[in-house]
Amino acid sequence: MSKSKSSESVKVVVRCRPMNEKERAAKYESVVSVDVKLGQIIVRNPRESSGNELPKIFTFDAVYGWNSKQLEMYDETFRPLVESVLLGFNGTIFAYGQTGTGKTYTMEGVRNDPEKRGVIPNSFEHIFTHISRSQNQQYLVRASYLEIYQEEIRDLLSKDQSRRLELRERPDTGVYVKDLSSFVTKSVREIEHVMNVGNQNRSVGATNMNEHSSRSHAIFVITVECSELGVDGENHIRVGKLNLVDLAGSERQTKTGAQGERLKEATKINLSLSALGNVISALVDGRSSHIPYRDSKLTRLLQDSLGGNARTVMVANIGPASYNVEETLTTLRYSNRAKNIKNKPRINEDPKDALLREFQEEIARLKAQLQKRSGKKKRRRLRRRAGEGSDDEGLESGETEDDEEDGDDKGDYWREQQEKLEKERKAILDDHSLVAEEKARLLKEKEKKMEDLRKEREAGEKLAAKVKAMESKLLVGGKNIVDHTNEQQRMLEQKRQEIAEQKRREREMQQQMESRDEETLELKETYTSLQQEVDIKTKKLKKLFSKLQSVKAEIQDLQEAHINERQEMEQIQNELTRDLKLKHLIIENFIPLEEKNKIVNRAFFDEEPEEWKMKPITRIEDDHQMMSRPRSAVGYWRPLSHHACVAMMLKPDMRYKAENIIMLDMDIPARTTKEYQEPVIAPKLAAALEDALRDEDEIEVDASSFHSSLGQMLPASASGSLKKPKSGRPRTGKKSSTPTSSYSPSSPGSPLYPQSRGLVPK
Ligand code: ADP
Ligand code: MG
Repeated sequence: MSKSKSSESVKVVVRCRPMNEKERAAKYESVVSVDVKLGQIIVRNPRESSGNELPKIFTFDAVYGWNSKQLEMYDETFRPLVESVLLGFNGTIFAYGQTGTGKTYTMEGVRNDPEKRGVIPNSFEHIFTHISRSQNQQYLVRASYLEIYQEEIRDLLSKDQSRRLELRERPDTGVYVKDLSSFVTKSVREIEHVMNVGNQNRSVGATNMNEHSSRSHAIFVITVECSELGVDGENHIRVGKLNLVDLAGSERQTKTGAQGERLKEATKINLSLSALGNVISALVDGRSSHIPYRDSKLTRLLQDSLGGNARTVMVANIGPASYNVEETLTTLRYSNRAKNIKNKPRINEDPKDALLREFQEEIARLKAQLQKRSGKKKRRRLRRRAGEGSDDEGLESGETEDDEEDGDDKGDYWREQQEKLEKERKAILDDHSLVAEEKARLLKEKEKKMEDLRKEREAGEKLAAKVKAMESKLLVGGKNIVDHTNEQQRMLEQKRQEIAEQKRREREMQQQMESRDEETLELKETYTSLQQEVDIKTKKLKKLFSKLQSVKAEIQDLQEAHINERQEMEQIQNELTRDLKLKHLIIENFIPLEEKNKIVNRAFFDEEPEEWKMKPITRIEDDHQMMSRPRSAVGYWRPLSHHACVAMMLKPDMRYKAENIIMLDMDIPARTTKEYQEPVIAPKLAAALEDALRDEDEIEVDASSFHSSLGQMLPASASGSLKKPKSGRPRTGKKSSTPTSSYSPSSPGSPLYPQSRGLVPK
């Protein structure tokens, strides 16, 4: 990886996972073999009928079998990439493949198992170790974590997980995610914490984590900024950005039979992935001038990683079992194409949006402020000392004392000042010659001074703390470079790297030899006899023929895949057309033409979020009808119902003043009954009636059970007066007016008598 190279290919490696328990239990055949030396993947066709069909061979930059180690893979394939990110290049690692083939295993690995850690944690270690060994450089490392699900971007580090972010584009820095949070991290621990928080958030929104992760793309972004003094005496900043992408599962989402929402969902899930495929095809094709980056969020965001300013490694993950052979082949073909993408990586020097620059400037500004403060302070102290009669000439140089002494001095200075003020306060208190008022005034003054002093001190401390906090975020290495173990470790790493490099070169050479074999064979051959010539040429013919066959088979496979894809697209198109027709039907039949026209006039297409939007009504100047207020509401903002007018007058609620709020209180009808009034009865008659009633009462007393139960509850005297009204009711049909009665006959719980409905005719 040399700097001078202007263009380089996307590196593609393939990793085949081991058979899992289920596959072994079901005794599936393994159809994939891995030739690590040659960098080849060989796939047999498992079908019996095709016994004579040739195995399919794919060659890649490197291949890893089921027993490959995470660290070995990191050293060989990912370390050089991360190393170049530390130099200021952009780098991207994609993990591509069917669900369950080891994408997440490759990217994240198994937590808590150092042997099985994936690229992401290994890169943390790598980056911070590099920084600790650096010299005369200042680093700033920050991390972001986002997810794309159904073409919506979610910030996995934000507090509000329901929020969706948008993509924006700036001419100088390109495409970015607006409002994406990023965290400055100072150590491996901190950045691991950031990753864990993101991972937790990722699973929070999902009902089924497996399904969710297989349908969404997760992108972990590490930005490394490095500032170094250049030969020109100026500080230069290099910014490298590392995108670590765990893509959605590449298997086809079934769209067949889906309609409406479900269809839309299914088409959206794989949109980013098929757009990625289209971008790769267009880049490799060479004939197409248009690269469809804009077709999906993923391809827009990672535009630079595909044919742009970045170094890219794509890891294609496959499974070995026979039942997956179709998906495995698709994955291999897909990644085989990606090999031919050419990138143009370059070091990003002094970009406009470097955060490190901002930090440095801010720190310098704060420091100047602090300096000014302590300068003021010192001058004051100098003046003070001079006043005390000190004739020390060396004091002048005291002003340029170094910072460390300044730190010690600071505490002394504050203490001195405080003590002095305290002393003065005491002196005032003790001074009996002063008038009480004068004393109070002076004391107040002193207290205010002390308060000011305290405030000033606090402000100074705050400023110093801020500077310290900001400085602590900038990482510098080189302090313990002489550390022995460190040195040994470094040597070990270097050795490992050398071995990896050696392996790579060996593989390349082998690959080249293979391909050259066929060409050179022809040149050096001279035949001793005709028979020999025939033999050799027959052999060659056979070889070439088999090659032709495999190419033909490949073409057929591709055609089949193409046809399948086309049919699926046609099906989607049909479904969408049907959907559209329904919408048309509704619009044509149920929406007035002028309303539709108004809406059409207001609607416009916003390119950025790729959505139709509505212009606000007031901006349409030529349509007066929509702008003016209706005439019918004189004196009001809008027409009001009579009820609303009355309600506003009766209950002037400021909150609803201008609104025509419907009041949903119940409309109670006016009462049509009157209170019952007893007829006036002559006293004689009343007495007779009383008598009559009492008589009857005696008969009723026999309802022993009722009485005994009541008798327990009520005092004896009350139970006596009770009997009257109850017994009188059935005959007279009127309520008793006896004021002593505390027991209403219509009260529930007296099952012996019919209950009154309380209505008396007029
Ligand atoms: P994906 O993210 O592609 O859906 P995972 O990474 O979740 O797949 O892997 C599925 C399972 O296979 C996990 O249990 C993982 O531990 C296991 N696995 C994948 N690759 C390997 C490997 N190279 N070695 C051992 N186990 C693996
Ligand atoms: Mg996964």
